[in-house]
Amino acid sequence: MSTRININGVVTAPEEARISVLDHGLMFGDSVYETLRTYSGRPFLFSRHFARLQRSADAIELQLPWPAARTREEIEKTLLTGECRVRLMITRGVGEPAADIETCTDPTVIIIVVPLVPLPERVYAQGVDVVISSVRRSSRLADIKTGSLIHQVLARREAKLKHAFEAILLTADEKLSDGITSNIYMVHGKKILTPGHNAGIVEGITRGVVLDLARERGLEVIDGFFEPRDIADADEMFLTSTTREVVPIARVDGKPVGPGKPGPVTQMLLEAYRAAIVRLSLED
Ligand code: PLP
Repeated sequence: MSTRININGVVTAPEEARISVLDHGLMFGDSVYETLRTYSGRPFLFSRHFARLQRSADAIELQLPWPAARTREEIEKTLLTGECRVRLMITRGVGEPAADIETCTDPTVIIIVVPLVPLPERVYAQGVDVVISSVRRSSRLADIKTGSLIHQVLARREAKLKHAFEAILLTADEKLSDGITSNIYMVHGKKILTPGHNAGIVEGITRGVVLDLARERGLEVIDGFFEPRDIADADEMFLTSTTREVVPIARVDGKPVGPGKPGPVTQMLLEAYRAAIVRLSLED
């Protein structure tokens, strides 16, 4: 079986997994979620993901039904053999077919586990193509991970049609925000420039780790507002996410970034990230 589902603590095969059509997660995208992965069969940086899930839940007034320890246990009991990608989702639960959260009493917990398919090493060796999306991040709710993901769906479709690995979304006032499901960075000499919290990003768990590693290695991190035209001055660019680690960006909208191949800072940070995994795996 290559997918396992856990609904409210019961592990089932995907064909048997059911939720009500009256679940507000389905009707209104009224849910919060996290995507995690395992290394050596253990959920990686679980506590950091749970803390972000809690922040997302607080932002939409959703009471998480389980504390961190139970959530972790339920994920562990759902894991497959081999490395896994885990989607943990808490929906508002069943209620009236009206956008009123007070009609819902019991959140639904859904854990979906699939085998993790790592990117081929050539992606890290050659870098990827990225496009600037025509989809804009809406600001207020951008930094919380809710199930209202139509922006991501449309941006992913656009990227796919342009044969791009990822798309960068802009804010309503045309500042760089983040990727569809990644954070982005430009390297200028010894500086790393990355859109900050106010640019409507999701604060990636990988971003936190990579920026710490960068600072420890004497790089200056500048997080703020940047524009698409700043890309022309970058020596290197890369993106980060839980499942993809640190991926060099070779071209944006068909134009090479720097020399159009992975640069030394990106390579150094990818190596540093991979080297830190064992140490970070000891975290809860
Ligand atoms: N930005 C967005 C919009 C995301 O959805 C994600 C992850 O899904 C990220 C950034 C990267 O976050 P993380 O490093 O925690 O995977």
